[in-house]
Amino acid sequence: MKLQQIVETVLSRAVIDRNDKTIAWIDTKNIGHKYLINEMSDDLYYGLAGILIFFIELKKNGINLNKNIIDLLDNTIKKRIISNTSTFHSDHGAILGFSSIIYAGMYASKSQMNLKFINHEELVLEQLFNIKNDVYSLDFIDGLSGTLYVLSKKFKLDGDRAILKYIKNLSEEIIARVDEVEVAGLAHGMAGIYLSLSEYYGINQENKLKKIIKYLIQKENKIWNEAVNEWRDLRGVNDYTKRWCNGSIGIHFVRRKVSNEHKELIDNLSLKMSLKSIKRSAFYVEKSNLCCGRVSEIFLDEVKHDLSTKSPNFSDSLDNNINLGLFSGITGLGLAILKSRNQFIPNILLLELPNEN
Ligand SMILES: [Zn+2]
Repeated sequence: MKLQQIVETVLSRAVIDRNDKTIAWIDTKNIGHKYLINEMSDDLYYGLAGILIFFIELKKNGINLNKNIIDLLDNTIKKRIISNTSTFHSDHGAILGFSSIIYAGMYASKSQMNLKFINHEELVLEQLFNIKNDVYSLDFIDGLSGTLYVLSKKFKLDGDRAILKYIKNLSEEIIARVDEVEVAGLAHGMAGIYLSLSEYYGINQENKLKKIIKYLIQKENKIWNEAVNEWRDLRGVNDYTKRWCNGSIGIHFVRRKVSNEHKELIDNLSLKMSLKSIKRSAFYVEKSNLCCGRVSEIFLDEVKHDLSTKSPNFSDSLDNNINLGLFSGITGLGLAILKSRNQFIPNILLLELPNEN
């Protein structure tokens, strides 16, 4: 498994416009047995925001690319924001929505990179503030709670009153609809909702919030299966997998973070539950991306990582993995390799920021 190979693959597929100073990729998604071909979107999961973070980390870790990829990405994102041509897989959500650009901006700033697109964030926020929320789910990945999570982090950095007003209303909308969520997990389930509410709780320590967070944790506990030490994926998939998106890896990230930051919100038993789940002998989805594959384990402090012996299929998966995205494809594998060499790389799977802790 070679990082160099990943970098070369990503660069060789780039389409660079030297006059316009922009960069683009053709994004190929394998859906069922069909391939879907599009210009790469701007979000963190499949798109430019994730690719940008990968290249920022390459640079910070001393890997010289001899190309001004970060400037090209910055300029491309900036132009798309200004001309209102950014594309996302959803309007809301931390990873597929508008707020993934806000997160990438915070990541770049915290990495001491002076990027130009950040000066135009107001335009992104303006669009976000104008969305009619009621047709969106509460999901972390592409719904209201993901937006609440990112903007709560943003408020903690800049103290923007307009954001505070927005997230106050958003948290109330989420609380009013909280029983819509029936499944476990970070991307589409309860863990994503209580993660976001507890991030907002760091700004507004209301008793009402505390109660809802505890209620959601208990509700999620009820669908844990003691016989296999795991939550079942209830989205119709009906299996027990250790995914980041809908399994115990994501849930444990969330529970550990909540416990570290706000001990009063979570009991020891709930934390032990997710710890047991990540330590059980695992069944993984055989897709080596950060979302659904075992590679997300690299970000768990509790598991010993050894990419060379534990994951013999990683290099095969590079050949088969035609997607480039940070959560969906090979740049995520690349970030995981960097993480296995440098423990200080933030946990992207919780949308942590550099030097946050
Ligand atoms: Zn997944």
